[in-house]
Amino acid sequence: MKTRIVSGIQPTGNLHLGNYLGAIRNWVRMQDETAAAGGDCFFFLADLHAITVYNDPAELRANVRAMAAALIAAGVDPARATLFNQAAVPAHAELAWLLNCTARIGWLNRMTQFKEKSGKNREGASIGLYAYPVLQAADVLLYGASHVPVGEDQKQHLELARDIATKFNTDYHVDLFRLPEPIIPPAAARIMSLRDGGAKMSKSDPSDASRINLTDDVDTIAAKIRKAKTDPEPLPDTAEALDGRPEARNLVGIHAALGDESVADVLARHAGQGFGQFKPMLAERLVETLRPIGARLAELARDPAELDRLLAAGAARARDAAAPMLAGAYDALGLSRQQ
Ligand code: ATP
Ligand code: MG
Repeated sequence: MKTRIVSGIQPTGNLHLGNYLGAIRNWVRMQDETAAAGGDCFFFLADLHAITVYNDPAELRANVRAMAAALIAAGVDPARATLFNQAAVPAHAELAWLLNCTARIGWLNRMTQFKEKSGKNREGASIGLYAYPVLQAADVLLYGASHVPVGEDQKQHLELARDIATKFNTDYHVDLFRLPEPIIPPAAARIMSLRDGGAKMSKSDPSDASRINLTDDVDTIAAKIRKAKTDPEPLPDTAEALDGRPEARNLVGIHAALGDESVADVLARHAGQGFGQFKPMLAERLVETLRPIGARLAELARDPAELDRLLAAGAARARDAAAPMLAGAYDALGLSRQQ
């Protein structure tokens, strides 16, 4: 059967180089690899998941658009991958309810992520946060996903989706839901702050100089790299020799991530150079990668109707793709949707 990858991404705004190299770029790769293998991808902005904790509504709306724009600007092709926001496809919420009636409380009680996310305030957590893994099961079962990319922390949720699918198929004597297999994405780069090699590059860092935003222009990128914290030593010839030099390690790591190389590969070419030499070259590489993304982002920002159109088309495709599975689930349960 055809490969179908389904994956959701949390909407987040003020996107930076860390988001790009650590997350967004992987979606583009998944799309390209899956298409080459004759399969397809469904990518959604997980807005229904975002509301399991309080989110400012205006911010949520803006973040969904910002993340969608960044995915498209980075190379997700809405003509090839089906890109949409969850809320635009009511089948997600509908199937989640049906599956809530199959999932067992005992199964959800074992989910370690809920325990971590709710912390000490378990009684005060939303029911949505508790039932989040059931919505995730609906997200992927709805489209008959063959594969779902999962990080270490999501493995348990995919197992739960498989358990729910199996119990539903068994209880109602149907062969409806396909059991998705996990795919473990390749280890993503972890990009650190340009001001402090011990802190992650993050949108919440108060210093704008600590990060490269996807919307930064060429001069800003060059200036931020020029001013990035480093040390006076030249680059060593082994990766181990960067231990204890977190800022140097980070700049070499950024270069490596940009070119899909290892730190050792970069050092093999640049050992002996000081940062006076290395930084301008790194800035050039960054600009090469980020300029086309920034340009497409600016285009999409100038023409919000274009983004609306792309998301609407994606949602229409997703609704069509989801309809048979949802109808099958209602039918299996003996529920009639006739007026
Ligand atoms: P916050 O400071 O609010 O946590 P953030 O800048 O860390 O924001 P998130 O919204 O938490 O961004 O992350 C979105 C995605 O980008 C996640 O998949 C996350 O793993 C990835 N990501 C965020 N920062 C980095 C980074 N510095 N290096 C690599 N990946 C990152
Ligand atoms: Mg974060």
